[in-house]
Parts: sequence; structure tokens; C-alpha cells
Amino acid sequence: MEKEFKKLIEKIKSYDQGADFEEIKKAFLFASKVHQGQIRRSGEPVLRHLLSVVLVLADWKLDSTSIEAGLLHDSVEDGGVSPQLIEKEFGEEVGELVNGVTKIGELKLRGSEEEKFVENLRKMLVTMAHDLRVVLIKLADRYHNMQTLAFLPLEKQKRIAKETLGVYAPLAERLGIGEMAGKLEDLAFPYLYPEDFAWIKSFSAPFYHQTEEIIEEAKEEILEELKKEKTKGEVSGRAKHLYSLWQKLLRPEIEKDISKIYDLVALRILVSSVRDCYATLGVVHKIWKPVPFKGVSDFIAQPKPNGYRSIHTTVFGPRGKIIEVQIRTYQMHEEGENGIAAHWYYGYLKTAGVSDKRLEDGVFAPNEKLSWVRQLVLWQKEIVGSQEFLEALKFDALKHRIFVFSPKGDVFDLPAESTPIDFAYAIHSELGDKAMGAKVNGKMVSLDFRLKSGDMVEILTSEKKKGPSRDWLSFVVTRVAKKEILKHFRSSKEAGYKV
Ligand code: MN
Repeated sequence: MEKEFKKLIEKIKSYDQGADFEEIKKAFLFASKVHQGQIRRSGEPVLRHLLSVVLVLADWKLDSTSIEAGLLHDSVEDGGVSPQLIEKEFGEEVGELVNGVTKIGELKLRGSEEEKFVENLRKMLVTMAHDLRVVLIKLADRYHNMQTLAFLPLEKQKRIAKETLGVYAPLAERLGIGEMAGKLEDLAFPYLYPEDFAWIKSFSAPFYHQTEEIIEEAKEEILEELKKEKTKGEVSGRAKHLYSLWQKLLRPEIEKDISKIYDLVALRILVSSVRDCYATLGVVHKIWKPVPFKGVSDFIAQPKPNGYRSIHTTVFGPRGKIIEVQIRTYQMHEEGENGIAAHWYYGYLKTAGVSDKRLEDGVFAPNEKLSWVRQLVLWQKEIVGSQEFLEALKFDALKHRIFVFSPKGDVFDLPAESTPIDFAYAIHSELGDKAMGAKVNGKMVSLDFRLKSGDMVEILTSEKKKGPSRDWLSFVVTRVAKKEILKHFRSSKEAGYKV
């Protein structure tokens, strides 16, 4: 275990030489003592679990406080240590993080009744608002627990996998930690849908293999071309996660036809600046023609709601095979992989005195796109006054938001009083434009229905529908919905509507 600990220290040194290594060592020794002789069902010592968790935290480049809390996160629950002792030994901040992780651990998010679930989800978000690092520790903890889930009793496996797929994976996605979201989904997949998992795994293997070969060829071609243009870049292949492949295959337009999925393995090009991204797009289109009906998605100009930024283009690649190419800067890449953790890190660097120049443009996605996360971060910052005031503030802030689910289990936060139309526009403007009906928890409702937290919302669309109805303006509450609906009437001749 000493060896793993050394590895951890090396990793931390690579991004934060000023970390408090003494305190980290102290936390490690403390945890070794507390969990001495404790073996997990997987047969491995608890200490190894703790090290696995903090190695993930170090991947996210988290600070000493988070690392200490990561090492101590099971001390209260499984080690019988009092929270007071943790606070006395390691300070208030570490104490609060450990407390937060313990509290979230006590919440059963799935498998409980609906009402309880929503209440628990709220509690979790409140804890999260208090300090985002709590959730990052919890996600790393859940990630390792999922890797050893096979050793738990069957019933527990199902509950935990369900909770992972229903809450933690969407949460990771929402925080922009896409890579972790995909890993969590893939770990939960076989426990919840064993037959589909087995089927898709064996059925897709040759396709992955084939695509990988094409990507290898493409890689060489593009590198050569970039060299000619004197653009420096790194090129790699990215295989789609199995769960997300399965979800895509189930989409009606795909009809379970894997040949219609072009990003099975995508070609990823990392360059150093936004300018180089667009230059590289030009180079790509010079050697491979874009596929007309697929087009280019410019998530740099228009980031996804979780802040994801990249350019995607689908092209006729080597041997005429259709492939997806993703182009982004190194920084966007890190953000895409580590999401909020990356933001947190850059924020930290900034307070640590790293110049703005090094933090360059585009560290933070446009405000509006990250509103939910930003709000959490803001709350976190506001939490400095008296405890009572803080409690009120946090609950009040949540009171005005509701959390609803898509049929796939994605969580969306909306203002209170939101309607299915607000929900539809929050997902995609086209979904809003084509909406003609809605189901909430499986029952048909009117489009002006007021949603509640925990509702599962499904939007029914019609291809024939040309656009939104003007009277929707009388009941929608989100700015996005209003803007999109108005846009439609401005562009058509029916302008003149006053807001
Ligand atoms: Mn744990």
C-alpha cells in the first residue's frame, strides 16, 4: 500500500507542488489505523478502496483538502470515528467535506418511494451546493464501488446500479464530467439489463474493431496533412461507451442498425487554440468530404448546456467509410473529460496566482450555458455568514427550482411553474417547435401543465408541425422558451408581437 501512496503523491506533485503533503500523509496514516484489518467484500482492504478513490480525485487535480477528505471519507461511517475528532485533527474544512459525503451516503436515492426520492435528491443538491467537492468525492467513491459491485448480494447490486444510472451518471453528465458519466453507465449496464448488455457486447465487437482500423488509417492521413499546414495537433481514437451505443441503437430513426452509427469510434484532434480548431476543420474537409445530411456541429460557437465544447463533423473518411471527427483545444478537452472539476482547478490556479494569460480564453463556458453549475458555485461562495442565514439561503434557492426527468432518466432543472413546453425547449429548440402533446409520469397532460419535482416528462412531436403556437407565450416561464417562440414569429411575417 505504501507503493500506491507514493504513486498518489507523485500524481499530486505533477499538478500542485504546493499541496500540503504532510497533512495528506497524516490523513493516510490516520485512515490506515482506523481501518486496520477491515476487509471489503471484494477481499481487498478498505485502505485500497480509499486510495482508489483519491487517485481519481488526483486525476481531477483536486486540492489537498479534497484528498485528505477522500482518504477519510469512510472513517465516520465504517471506522466509528466521531466527526468532531476529524475536525479536531484535520480542521473544519476537511471535517465538513467528510460530513457531507457521509450525509449523501445515507440518502437512498432509488428504491425509495417517489416522495422520499425527490426529498433526498433535494438534500443531495443542497449538500452539493454547500461544497461541490463533496459530490466529486462521492462520484469517485461510487466509481470504485461500482467496480467491485459483483461482490455484493444480488439485491443490493440492483439497487446501487439503479441509483448509479438514475442519479449519479446524469449528475456527472450534468456537471460536464462526461467521461465519468460514461464509465458509470457502462458499469451499471450489465446489472440492470444483463441480456441486452451481453447481446450488444458481442454483437458490436467486430464493428468496433473494423472502425478502429479505419480510424488508424485516418489518423496517419490527417497527421500528415496537419504537418503540411504547420498545425500542431494530437490525434487519437475515442470508442463510444457501450451503454450510450445501446441507447442510440434504440432510437427510432436508427432502427437498431449499427451501420447508421458513425461515431462508434471517433477521430479526435486536439490543438492549442480556437483558431487552430477552425483551421483544422478546413484541413479535414479538404481531404475528406463532409456527409451532406449530417453536417457540422459547432459546439464551440454554441456549447451544449453542460458546457461541452468541440467541433463535430461527419465525413467520408478513408475507403469511403463514414467517420466522425471531433476537433477541440486541449483545454476544452480537459473540461470535457473533467467538467466542473476542471473549472474548479482553473479557478484554484487563478486564486493561486497563475496569470490570466495562461488561463487564456475559453476556460469558462458562457455564463448562461453553465447556469446550474454556476448557481451552485455561487451558493458555495455565498456560504460564509451565519449558519441560520445560510440554511435559509440554500433552501430558498432550491425552492424556486424543480428537477424533472426525461424518459431516459436525465435530470433537468427548471424554474418552478415550468410547463412541458419549457421542458421541451430546455432540451432542444426543435423539440419545442414540434411539440404537440406531453405525457407526465405516463399520463397525457395539457401543454400548460405545471410540472413538479420528480416528474418524468415525455414530449410528443409531429413532423408536420411547422412551429410553436403563439398562445404558448401566455404560459411558458423560461427565457429560453420565450425567446425561441418569439424568434419564430419575428422570422415569419407575423411580427409585431410585443413582449
Ligand atoms: Mn467509500
